[in-house]
Amino acid sequence: MARAENTELIDAFEDLYRDYYRNEIGDLAQKYPTEQKSLYLDWQDIYRFDPDLADDVQNHPEELRECAEEALRLYDLPVDVKLGQAHVRIHNLPESTDIRELRADHRGQLISVQGIVRKATDVKPKITQAAFECQRCGTLTRIPQQTGDFQEPHECQGCERQGPFRINFDQSEFIDAQKIRVQESPEGLRGGETPQSIDVNIEDDITGEVTAGDHVRVSGVLKLDQQGSDQDQSPMFDTYMDGFSVEIEDEQFEEMDITEEDKQEIIELSSREDIYDEMVGAIAPSIYGYDREKLSMILQLFSGVTKHLPDESRIRGDLHMLLIGDPGTGKSQMLSYIQNIAPRSVYTSGKGSSSAGLTAAAVRDDFGDGQQWTLEAGALVLADQGIAAVDELDKMAADDRSAMHQALEQQEISVSKAGINATLKSRCSLLGAANPKYGRFDQYEPISEQIDLEPALISRFDLIFTVTDQPNEEKDRNLADHILRTNYAGELHTHRVESNTSNFSDEEVENVTDDVAPTIEPELLRKYIAYAKRNCYPTMTEEAREEIEDFYVDLRTQGADEDAAVPVTARKLEATVRLAEASARVRLSDKVTAEDSQRVIDIVRSCMEDVGVDPETGELDADMIEAGTTKSQRDRIKNIKQLIDDLESEYDEGAPVEVVIDRAEEVGMDETKAEHEIEKLKQKGEVYEPQTDYLRTT
Ligand code: ADP
Ligand code: MG
Repeated sequence: MARAENTELIDAFEDLYRDYYRNEIGDLAQKYPTEQKSLYLDWQDIYRFDPDLADDVQNHPEELRECAEEALRLYDLPVDVKLGQAHVRIHNLPESTDIRELRADHRGQLISVQGIVRKATDVKPKITQAAFECQRCGTLTRIPQQTGDFQEPHECQGCERQGPFRINFDQSEFIDAQKIRVQESPEGLRGGETPQSIDVNIEDDITGEVTAGDHVRVSGVLKLDQQGSDQDQSPMFDTYMDGFSVEIEDEQFEEMDITEEDKQEIIELSSREDIYDEMVGAIAPSIYGYDREKLSMILQLFSGVTKHLPDESRIRGDLHMLLIGDPGTGKSQMLSYIQNIAPRSVYTSGKGSSSAGLTAAAVRDDFGDGQQWTLEAGALVLADQGIAAVDELDKMAADDRSAMHQALEQQEISVSKAGINATLKSRCSLLGAANPKYGRFDQYEPISEQIDLEPALISRFDLIFTVTDQPNEEKDRNLADHILRTNYAGELHTHRVESNTSNFSDEEVENVTDDVAPTIEPELLRKYIAYAKRNCYPTMTEEAREEIEDFYVDLRTQGADEDAAVPVTARKLEATVRLAEASARVRLSDKVTAEDSQRVIDIVRSCMEDVGVDPETGELDADMIEAGTTKSQRDRIKNIKQLIDDLESEYDEGAPVEVVIDRAEEVGMDETKAEHEIEKLKQKGEVYEPQTDYLRTT
């Protein structure tokens, strides 16, 4: 741009400031440079002031920014300060570009993208002007440094020799710099697309404000960076952004557009008698059965109400669910269907595909200049305010296991490593799937012993479903029928799409596909859920509260006699409340009714009976899940220990294992169980082996 034009532009900005930004600049002058270093220009203001100028800003953002900054330096200030290093940051562009839509045409343009911060480096000083001090004559040679390679002087400006030089830090200029990776928000993705991302360099006062997991809107210039190394350059380029402004957005499901028409349809649906059945039919229609699981998935999608108490503590409203069962029972299929209907979801495998795994991690890699520590958000952070579907949860990394407890209950994840101290939000629901410890359930062992997750983690789940795959003629026939029909529908549909001489009539095809189509269109259901979560905050009615209280107290009284097991803990009570709230939300109701309570009590009870019943006594036992051993097991362990204690005084070498087992069998414990219990006592250090096959108590 020519010089003359520049003066015009600077004048234009000065006029703009006088018309629109008088107060803001006054403020800045007061706070500069400690509290505030930037003047934020709203693009919409520029447009109102002069559409051509706004156009120029979009097409030549860097030149225009310089003019705007020059205009700010020339501006008549009410107080006696100089805004020498103040920045002008342009934000609030009329529209944002999808990260996956960024093209070569956008190069050099001012654009705005929205997404979630996947990775963020530490804030580090970056040299912008290096002062090279000649070791021979002491003259300073100043070289401005741009992004890219470090520039050194060819010769000393004083003695004209080639150094050696030393960088004089006091005379050099530094700026704070940070690099962040912004990834498409989960709600923008349809049907499990892999999210794409863009790296953004930011400087000075806007660094250190965002962290991994934040939802942001970034305005900046799209730049290109040549791929390959210096020696071996490639014709391909990577894109990145120089960020002008980064704003944190906190709105839920902001991107979901719900029209007046949608709203009518949603409200109509919500008042239907059979809404709960309709909802169940809308989830994974190709999977036969699992009505209870599907209803619970619906409740999870709607979720309970997050409560904020006067003492500033908070009770989560999000529900966590675990499907655990035999292989090939459709767990993965159901899990992945969540992506079709959840307004915001992340689907991943416990093995994890990124270094951040399921939670978050501080990693040292070459994201950023050179090796640097970076904070990276994992699935549970990316799913903040949504749902994380994690398949093969039992295979998760050891690091994740410990962070998981905090993530599920407090709904945040703390990372503290290598000087990075951060707390990331993970206000999401977890839908997990896992296989039993030995791949398939053993029906003779308590189910709780076959779940390969530690009790403390398991107890965080509001609902645990066990899926066993046992032959049953009627069920197998229905299942086969369903799967064959689903496949037939798929065949017909594909046939019609792929071949132009189909001999099936449209009517035929529709008849068959109708059978396996979801009862509510996924698109509508997604909006329905977003609408409910945004607008509906149900409260308990007296009757609903009584139902739940009775359920809880009844169960507890079973455990009141001193010798009985504790059948249920307060955790389940909170879970029941959350589920009941979700049930009310499905109807878009402000009141949780007695029917809501009844509906969810049935589910909670049947889940507890699946996993929480002690097979030896047939009684509910909360410790099966929450502590990992049942009361009868604890008694048994005590008994075996008693046995060993009695026997060891009869034998010099200690109690012989064989005899212990014989005695145990006499009182009705079979051999494998007895061996198992002895093994447990040894692990706990309550019993040891002075020599092979002999036991002593400690
Ligand atoms: P899992 O994750 O439990 O091991 P998958 O979800 O991978 O099992 O399911 C294996 C296959 O069996 C899938 O193709 C699925 O469609 C089919 N399948 C299993 N159970 C059902 C069911 N109840 N209804 C329909 N299809 C099923
Ligand atoms: Mg699977």
